[in-house]
Amino acid sequence: MTFDEKLKSIVGAAHVRMAPAERALYAYDATPMADLVMPDAVVLPASAEEVAALLGLANELGMPVVPRGAGTNVTGGARPVQGGLVISTQRMNKILNLDVNNLQAVVQPGVVTEDLQEAAEEVGLFYPPDPQSAETCTVGGNLAENAGGPRAVKYGVTRHYVLALQAAMADGRLLRFGARTLKSVVGYDMTSLLVGSEGTLAFITEATLRLIPQPEARGTLLAVFSEVEQAAAAVASILQAGNLPAALEFVDQTALQVLPPDLGLPAEAAALLVLEVDGSKTEVAASGARVAACLKESGALRVDLTEDAGEADRLWQARRAVGPALAKIAPLKINEDVVVPISRLPDAVRRIRAIADSYSIRCAIFGHAGDGNLHVNFLLDQGDQEGLLRVQDAVAETFEVVVDLGGSISGEHGIGTAKQAFVGLELEPAVVDLMRAVKQVFDPKGIMNPGKIF
Ligand SMILES: Cc1cc2nc3c(=O)[nH]c(=O)nc-3n(C[C@H](O)[C@H](O)[C@H](O)COP(=O)(O)OP(=O)(O)OC[C@H]3O[C@@H](n4cnc5c(N)ncnc54)[C@H](O)[C@@H]3O)c2cc1C
Repeated sequence: MTFDEKLKSIVGAAHVRMAPAERALYAYDATPMADLVMPDAVVLPASAEEVAALLGLANELGMPVVPRGAGTNVTGGARPVQGGLVISTQRMNKILNLDVNNLQAVVQPGVVTEDLQEAAEEVGLFYPPDPQSAETCTVGGNLAENAGGPRAVKYGVTRHYVLALQAAMADGRLLRFGARTLKSVVGYDMTSLLVGSEGTLAFITEATLRLIPQPEARGTLLAVFSEVEQAAAAVASILQAGNLPAALEFVDQTALQVLPPDLGLPAEAAALLVLEVDGSKTEVAASGARVAACLKESGALRVDLTEDAGEADRLWQARRAVGPALAKIAPLKINEDVVVPISRLPDAVRRIRAIADSYSIRCAIFGHAGDGNLHVNFLLDQGDQEGLLRVQDAVAETFEVVVDLGGSISGEHGIGTAKQAFVGLELEPAVVDLMRAVKQVFDPKGIMNPGKIF
């Protein structure tokens, strides 16, 4: 049998893509990188067993395998940089079980995150991880990147909702890790190792995820500041005062230019904080008032508080759109998702803006400031090659500043290919060696998403 015939025998002829135009669709992801490498083949399996058989075949041939969800990652993780086989989870999109009795969901990896959030909500439950790409990205991609989002400040990130995983190993074995209980300390925590491993260790074929009760009510606050650093400092003040908002987002002066005009922001607005508080109706009223008072004490020019779902939704839609809407200012953005201890946010914002100024690059900073996570976007015109070189230097300096402030070079987007050169800034060589050794155990032939992280 030829290679194509073998693929077709595993997933069916209709689910193998060999034509150049079809393969080209899987050569890229949401990362702004010009160099594309075509995969040799793209396959769309429907089951864990099919994935395992595909990996067994690729391992035999020593062929690179790139797991792919929705391709929304922004660090080059889903790109087949060495060609090979792209295995898409597009057809593995079933919620297999919504277990209301045990507050759990069992899902295939291709389930779109928002579909899971909505399915949980319909039965009164809550799946908190909420990357701002939730309406497109998949649970498998979220697991592989350990995706975060605005709610991480109170509810944590994807990792905190993983009870058990099934994964196909590079050699084609299907294994189960973790347990379907809230607690389990039997051996090493292998689920945590797979979460955030960017498809370099194994292919996640099923996840058992923890759900929690849906909060009864939510309140949304919008605080307008006339000084960026004041807004950044308010983040720590709110948390230090004993408040724990469900979301605490920061938007700087450049980023707020792309917000819809109907938000009615005053001309002197230089930064915004957008917050959510949740709980029972009484708790929301009380914590909303407490946080609003704290925002005013921290120097906010204006604080709006709403419990109206429609109005809140409009505000969150606007916040979600900030990243893509930056294209209105400049078509090319280099987006870094650094994270610092919350008390260092004002320093981080000040020093990163100074770096951008020193290289004469436009820069928009926004993000999930409640957990210290800032999206730093260096903005360029398309084809500005000279500008791109300046951005590369600005990015390197930004990472140095972040590490100097006790932070991390990626809060949620991972390393992929985009940040490989900077891993050594944060991790000592012996730790990287240990990680490589782990990879060697899982994937001796190095077929799993090669060219990523290391
Ligand atoms: C507009 C926008 C907003 C975003 N907002 C956020 C945000 O708020 N928070 C955040 O964390 N990220 C955010 N992201 C980044 C991105 O959406 C996340 O990294 C997301 O988790 C990727 O999911 P995906 O399904 O698109 O995965 P892909 O991009 O297809 O893949 C991501 C990585 O996971 C691997 N992978 C995919 N499926 C599997 C599997 N089943 N088994 C093993 N490995 C697998 C791939 O090989 C790749 O390395 C945003 C991106 C965009 C474009």
